[in-house]
Amino acid sequence: MKLDNIRAAEARLLVQTYERTPVLFVRGEGVHLYDENGAAYLDFLSGIGVNALGYAHPAITAAIAAQSQKLLHTCNLFYHEGQAELALRLTEISGMDRAFFCNSGTEAQEAAMKIARAHAGVLRAEGKQIGTKILAFENGFHGRTMGAVSTTHKAKYREPFAPLIPGVEFVRFNDVADFQAKFSTEVCAVVIETVQGEGGIHIATPEFLATVRKLTQQTGALLIADEIQCGLGRTGQWFGYQHSGVLPDVVTLAKHLGGGLPVGAVLCTDEAARAITPGMHGTTFGGGPLACAVACTVVDTLRQKNMLAHVRTLGDYFQDKLRALAQKHTCITAVRGLGLMIGAEIASADLAKSIYTQMLERHILINRTSETVLRFLPPYVIERHHIDQVVEALDTVLTAAAVAGVKQA
Ligand SMILES: *Cc1c(COP(=O)(O)O)cnc(C)c1O
Repeated sequence: MKLDNIRAAEARLLVQTYERTPVLFVRGEGVHLYDENGAAYLDFLSGIGVNALGYAHPAITAAIAAQSQKLLHTCNLFYHEGQAELALRLTEISGMDRAFFCNSGTEAQEAAMKIARAHAGVLRAEGKQIGTKILAFENGFHGRTMGAVSTTHKAKYREPFAPLIPGVEFVRFNDVADFQAKFSTEVCAVVIETVQGEGGIHIATPEFLATVRKLTQQTGALLIADEIQCGLGRTGQWFGYQHSGVLPDVVTLAKHLGGGLPVGAVLCTDEAARAITPGMHGTTFGGGPLACAVACTVVDTLRQKNMLAHVRTLGDYFQDKLRALAQKHTCITAVRGLGLMIGAEIASADLAKSIYTQMLERHILINRTSETVLRFLPPYVIERHHIDQVVEALDTVLTAAAVAGVKQA
């Protein structure tokens, strides 16, 4: 089918959850995607923070080919070789003790919330005073299932599905006083993105994280770090919390972990994990042989190639270039980021939208989030000249926008 036919068919056949950009991709290689006419697009979105190693990475395609010839699925009633291997790698890089594997970010969040509720139950049985409330943050995003969406701040994502799970309260991000006011022994968990992704690239300050850690430690409430977007090297450290020195109790992962395959994970301390006994939680597909083999390959490749240092160096280079661009174009009102997780705040939503469209016309894929923020999540394997290409295109687009703006005035 051609793009036009696909659009017509989807409009008729699919539940309308997405307003897609009218581009039809048929393959990818390295940091480029190719449409049905063979035209190349430079990808600075990575499938929303998934394709850390780019497209058709030989290590990943080899792992998929090898594992698919051996074993795709066994179910979690039996052993296979992959889960211990992956858990070994992930606990080593995260400082956590144990892992649970699932298929997506929202599922990981769901499991994390269940661990926190169950853990509070264990503490109560031991005579400790702790409630069932969950604190989440304004502009936070944790997924779309009932539990995860209850902790997701945007009203549009939550309100049509009410009633949601009770006992969730939102705190202003990086606001120590608001956190102190809302935290109490009623709280069993605090859910935080150490770098907010969908919310527009906002970085939790080390002081704020230290306060959250201190108060949760005093009551036994679990600190859940949602590292689904900012984890696994995206910020130049394995995990976003490693920039602050604060160690959470539970860490959730997905996006980058599968190199393009759907893989999620919950990592946690022994203390958190003691709340879960056989039968309490589970999944048919989670932690399957293919997912584990590929995720191990992703982690090993990031390690061998010293990719984190590359992410830090190129992230700094990109941010410097964007800040220089902001000097020239005042419609860029802020540049925020860590590693290759970068946002540029634009003066208006309409302008941000038009920049997105014009970058696409120049065959560069970026993303607009939180209305006014251009979000850049390139594959880690980009080089300086790719950044130069994106910054030059932005410069051209913004110069044209400024000229158009003067003419209109
Ligand atoms: C994408 C995302 C999720 C949800 O992950 P899915 O795999 O889409 O369910 C949760 N939290 C954060 C921070 C995310 O970026």
